[in-house]
Amino acid sequence: MLLKRRHFLGTGLAASALLAAPAVLGQGKPKVVVIGGGAGGATAARYIAKDSEGAIEVTLVEANPVYTTCFFSNLYLGGFRDFESLQHGYGKLSEAGITVIHDTATGVDRAARTVTLAGGQVLPYDRLILSPGIDFKEGSVPGWSLADAEVMPHAYKAGPQTQLLKSQVEAMPQGGVFAMVAPPNPYRCPPGPYERLCMIAHLL
Ligand SMILES: Cc1cc2nc3c(=O)[nH]c(=O)nc-3n(C[C@H](O)[C@H](O)[C@H](O)COP(=O)(O)OP(=O)(O)OC[C@H]3O[C@@H](n4cnc5c(N)ncnc54)[C@H](O)[C@@H]3O)c2cc1C
Repeated sequence: MLLKRRHFLGTGLAASALLAAPAVLGQGKPKVVVIGGGAGGATAARYIAKDSEGAIEVTLVEANPVYTTCFFSNLYLGGFRDFESLQHGYGKLSEAGITVIHDTATGVDRAARTVTLAGGQVLPYDRLILSPGIDFKEGSVPGWSLADAEVMPHAYKAGPQTQLLKSQVEAMPQGGVFAMVAPPNPYRCPPGPYERLCMIAHLL
């Protein structure tokens, strides 16, 4: 059978494979650890908890207590949404039986099947999901550094960057110039730069 993502998350196929593992090992409930509570990680955690109906212990490790979505952030720039509407806590996931830990995962030991957190906690797992999103790497773009983002905000990570970009546009003098460069193809969201430009134009 072709294993599609929907089957993996939706039909309990993965769950049944997981449930078999600890029976062999003679342990308690099978454990899934998810690193990263963004759209990807939070959705995976939510559906594993839901489909396994509590038979799988799900732990979500997320660095921040509040997730600010990139999606809809352009609408915030255009003045169609407020910033708070982009922000989401993790209370609903806790209510769904997921153990949510706000800490940064700093290491994975694949042989021992453990995740180490910055706070020193070590989490054992049977299956691990890595969903840390993207980040910027100092020195990866010639002539650009992380500090430059404080002057020329990219707003690729929603939060303070999005707010900084909006405040800069709002502070522009009459006749000022707004310049934006779309990344070369292929990139994740082809309409993104155009959506952003439309919103900035609307704001101006
Ligand atoms: C401006 C913009 C607009 C967009 N608009 C849309 C849209 O309209 N529709 C759409 O479908 N997509 C849109 N996207 C794309 C979408 O935001 C991403 O595809 C999506 O956020 C990816 O989800 P993710 O879970 O993989 O990563 P992220 O959302 O980046 O989440 C990763 C999470 O992992 C956490 N994390 C990272 N490292 C660690 C660690 N070591 N320990 C603990 N936690 C960690 C981070 O704190 C973060 O919360 C947009 C993107 C941008 C930049």
